[in-house]
Amino acid sequence: MKNTSKYEKYRPKKFLGQNFLTDVNISKKIISFLEIEEGDTVLEIGPGHGALTKLLLNYDINLTAIEIDKFAFEELSLNLEGKVKIIHQDFLKTKLSDFYNGKKIKVIGNIPYNITSQILFKLFENYKIISKAVLMMQKEVAHRLKSVPNTKEYGILSVFTNLYSSPKIVYNVPPGAFFPKPKVDSSVVSMDFKDDIVVLKNPELFREVVRTSFNQRRKTLRNSLRKLFDEKNIDVNAIKFDLSKRPEMLNIIEFTELTDEIFSGLRIDN
Ligand code: SAM
Repeated sequence: MKNTSKYEKYRPKKFLGQNFLTDVNISKKIISFLEIEEGDTVLEIGPGHGALTKLLLNYDINLTAIEIDKFAFEELSLNLEGKVKIIHQDFLKTKLSDFYNGKKIKVIGNIPYNITSQILFKLFENYKIISKAVLMMQKEVAHRLKSVPNTKEYGILSVFTNLYSSPKIVYNVPPGAFFPKPKVDSSVVSMDFKDDIVVLKNPELFREVVRTSFNQRRKTLRNSLRKLFDEKNIDVNAIKFDLSKRPEMLNIIEFTELTDEIFSGLRIDN
């Protein structure tokens, strides 16, 4: 059946994850989770045709929206001329520190689902200047962010999300709230960024250990990390951490303990 939605003229681009919100009440509800205060600096990822942006204009905030699609950017700039700063740019290439003015940034977006992980990692890299993020994503991914050890959803995203933030699934949104309707269910996740994250002695090595462990999640740590141990010239026998465990059994603290041991092996041997 032909879709007669007013949004049809936008010819959504699938490769940019364009599923536009069509229900103003749902947009209002999403914005309410950002707990906006006067003077906040707010960054919107992918404003599209402004479903959230237009409502954000009702607040006394310092708002910038970053949109990669030239057509959406031009159309929205025309509609909201002078009312909001819209930047035609890839959010993944945007320097977030440019928007930091001493007060931590709040981030909002009905984000393109195909780059959810990259967006999250970009936010985590900038955790020191972000206070909160409210993001709509695929429901299944939202559950991964919240998952705990020893469950099948637990993985890289769960470890990093909980390292940097406290995630909450605050709202489930059905496919009918978008044009075009996505094939998946969606959820809004509210993430309060932590002020004091677990201190990592070596953040890069931590990332490498978590990623490498989960790349072969069914294997024991001894097997999945074998290549890393070899490359870094680590004496596996000197490691006291129980390497017969599988990665999904480890909480964040245990991953830091494992990393710390590998790190001390690095310093002694290399
Ligand atoms: N906010 C609008 C709404 O809720 O109706 C649009 C949401 S749509 C799911 C995602 C938006 O992100 C699209 O407008 C798309 O063009 C934009 N987008 C996709 N990749 C992007 C990127 N790397 N950087 C910035 N915007 C991007």
